[in-house]
Amino acid sequence: MDTKYIFVTGGVVSSLGKGIISSSLACLLKARGLRVTIQKFDPYINVDPGTLNPYEHGECYVTEDGRETDLDLGHYERFTNVRTSKANNVTTGRIYKSVIDKERRGDYLGKTVQIVPHITDEIKRRIKYLGNTGNYDIVITEIGGVVGDIESLPFLEAVRQLRWELGNSSLCVHLTYVPFIAAAQELKTKPTQHSVKALQELGIQPDILVLRTEKEIPADMRRKIALFCNVDPKAVVQSRDASSIYKVPLMLHEQHVDETVLNKIGVTKSGEPHMEPWLAFTDKLDSATETVTIGLVGKYVELQDAYKSISEALVHATTYADRKLKLVYIHSEKVDESNVEEQLKDMDGVIVAPGFGHRGIEGKFVALKWCREHDVPTFGICLGMQCMVIEFARNVLGLKDANSTEMAHDTPHNVIDLMEEQKNVSNMGGTMRLGAYDCRLRPGSKAFEAYGQQDVRERHRHRYEFNNEYRVQFEQNGMECVGENPAAHLIEVVEIPTKRWYIGTQYHPEYTSTVLSPSPIFKSFINAAIDYHNDKAADKK
Ligand code: GLN
Repeated sequence: MDTKYIFVTGGVVSSLGKGIISSSLACLLKARGLRVTIQKFDPYINVDPGTLNPYEHGECYVTEDGRETDLDLGHYERFTNVRTSKANNVTTGRIYKSVIDKERRGDYLGKTVQIVPHITDEIKRRIKYLGNTGNYDIVITEIGGVVGDIESLPFLEAVRQLRWELGNSSLCVHLTYVPFIAAAQELKTKPTQHSVKALQELGIQPDILVLRTEKEIPADMRRKIALFCNVDPKAVVQSRDASSIYKVPLMLHEQHVDETVLNKIGVTKSGEPHMEPWLAFTDKLDSATETVTIGLVGKYVELQDAYKSISEALVHATTYADRKLKLVYIHSEKVDESNVEEQLKDMDGVIVAPGFGHRGIEGKFVALKWCREHDVPTFGICLGMQCMVIEFARNVLGLKDANSTEMAHDTPHNVIDLMEEQKNVSNMGGTMRLGAYDCRLRPGSKAFEAYGQQDVRERHRHRYEFNNEYRVQFEQNGMECVGENPAAHLIEVVEIPTKRWYIGTQYHPEYTSTVLSPSPIFKSFINAAIDYHNDKAADKK
């Protein structure tokens, strides 16, 4: 079968959840046995989001092959269980960079280089790249931003051309918003009509309209939208606010979106998608009654997208443990000796978040000391692991002023230090230790128990690392280096085996947790938190 292309555009406002709609559609198509991938084209000039502050862009997601990408790629993996790669996220910056590099090499043979056709051709080449590998039946391409933005124009022009070239092998799903005006007690369709019109002016006729809404959109209103927008009435569907993003595939399926898509692109797949494992998960989401309370200590807590993969990995793990997750975001800048007890005493488990730079770091040390001394299940991820090491050095090993050289260049005890390979790096973009690396776990350790195997591979995003010169001192005093990269001997996991669950990972296990394949170490952490919760309850009796 020739590869089919589905384009997903958005209108009216941003943040409607194009990523979730794309992921949900992919989830349904995959459950019908099709080979699907999703890619995102982002209209900003940064070459990748790696240098962006989380306040700008939320979490930076890292692919297995080491690309820093948009957080939607995390949703793509969580919903489809299909790994993404460097090719799945392309920005305007990357497109321009390759066109300009080609121009400098002389590849354009003296021609004037222009947005049309050179930029649009480069966009088209990249849109078709994964399809041309022969590995996918369907490639879903999400175009970032909102129709009408100046930045998205070259992408939409490329989509227009591809729709024309590919004919029935492609279609466009357009996501819009139908607001409810409280004062008038009415849903309004005009913004949708305008946004479809804007798309049509660019030469793109949407085939499917997904209407985001807080309230049920009556059938006659959907028919009216279909008529005004030249869209088949069956192909105008709604996406109401759901109690969980993982219900969205089911909502789309109820409205036969997967069937409509396949009919339109000429794929005959009869029967129903095999959603049984997915349904088992959503049933668990609904049936759990008891909660487990996890505190997430970080400095970006006002912006929960900054920790998206962590919060989703926690949802996966708690759901499989038949619990509801109560996630409490704790601002590390606001934690100090005087309030730490108050802030942490109700937690069944604490995660100390990844991050960069000095801000909020002292609060992380205070939280970790309290957790260690009170034997609360504690999970340090990346910077969180590094903070575990520093706190232990200061308060157990007595190495006053121990630190990471990231925070204090001239610390007398650089227990966390810049990696050797990083010492000559001057460019900030894409130069960290990125992507999946092997880790060998020590048999008998809690981390080994969590994974149930010795060799694991998880994804990284860091420049600093545990300083091996201190290893013996740590091990002799109770913090063990139980995970190591076999090639470079970098320390990937530390733990205090005498505690219930006190583990730090230099890697980010949250990136690989999916609905159908939850992260083993998150599951182990949640199980420890549940045991701790039960022990506390038993003590009270
Ligand atoms: N800032 C730390 C480093 O570069 C940790 C990075 C992270 O938490 N992702 O090593």
